[in-house]
Amino acid sequence: MPADPVFTLADLATWRRSGTSFAVLGHPIKHSISPPMQNAALALLARTDDRFADWRYFRFEIHPDDLPRALELLHAKKFLGVNLTVPHKIIAYDRIAEIDPAARPVGAVNTLRWSARGWQGFNTDGYGIAMAARETLGHDLAGTPVLLLGAGGAARGAGVECLQRGCASLWIANRTRENLDHLLEILAPLAGKIPVNGFAPNHPPANLPTGLLVVNATSAGLHESDPLPIELRALPRPAAVFDMIYNPPRTPLLRAAGELGLPHANGVSMLVHQGAKALEIWSGVPAEKTAATMSAAARAALGKYG
Ligand code: NDP
Repeated sequence: MPADPVFTLADLATWRRSGTSFAVLGHPIKHSISPPMQNAALALLARTDDRFADWRYFRFEIHPDDLPRALELLHAKKFLGVNLTVPHKIIAYDRIAEIDPAARPVGAVNTLRWSARGWQGFNTDGYGIAMAARETLGHDLAGTPVLLLGAGGAARGAGVECLQRGCASLWIANRTRENLDHLLEILAPLAGKIPVNGFAPNHPPANLPTGLLVVNATSAGLHESDPLPIELRALPRPAAVFDMIYNPPRTPLLRAAGELGLPHANGVSMLVHQGAKALEIWSGVPAEKTAATMSAAARAALGKYG
């Protein structure tokens, strides 16, 4: 059996494990590196605290149609925590008992915690991007002008985080105008005095500032043949470029940033920090204590799967 087998809904129906279990659900899930990352952190915690000795994290391939049944079974089998990845983060939002107030403007949950009343939902992706920008590029979202590429779920989470942390200004570029307008509408009530503007990636406005933190939250770059989500040379010189994609580790956008001599980083540290925050929610152990172990495990797993 491989170290991290992929389980299914049928496995869940007959699940008999007696220890404390965790699951990540996705479709597809086979490329998820959350199990090695979380299990490395759980092994670290178990070394000094017996409470964690039987805690294990598993991955499940769950079709969106089966998500309600999977969540029901996971709850009945008393899984303590669940992570949700594509495409479940938004679908699950309306199906759980309680939503953390901080996750409400995001409209999506990536972390669930068991309670007798039902699942409690959280979103740790925003924390992940904020920590990653600081750790890898030395940029706090607070006070920084940010250019967000994309208008899907990840962009929404990042946009909410930028505004909640008080970025200097928020610019959003997206291919499909309708999706861009929808995101701008969602973010407007959170903006306060922060200027928020949207534009088409091939028509950057003349008043874009220099020193932008460019954050790619599109899926352009997952495949070698994908187009660049934006032409960096057409922008006033940015301060740095962060790509949420981590596999492949060096996307065309990051290569372009390197060619221009711009500091740049991929999304592995975002994955690590959202994971460490999820474990904090389940265990009470501060995310800072497990992040380094998760990072080493994630990087090792990427080498294996990537
Ligand atoms: P969605 O499907 O919700 O959104 C996709 C976005 O990408 C849309 O804005 C879409 O634009 C845009 N897009 C897709 N293809 C192209 C293209 N060829 N050119 C330009 N734009 C394109 O996905 P998510 O928001 O959930 O995820 C986005 C990315 O973020 C993914 O790569 C995902 O792996 C990554 N991610 C990383 C995380 C991490 O921890 N590192 C966490 C979460 C996400 P349009 O509106 O025009 O269709």
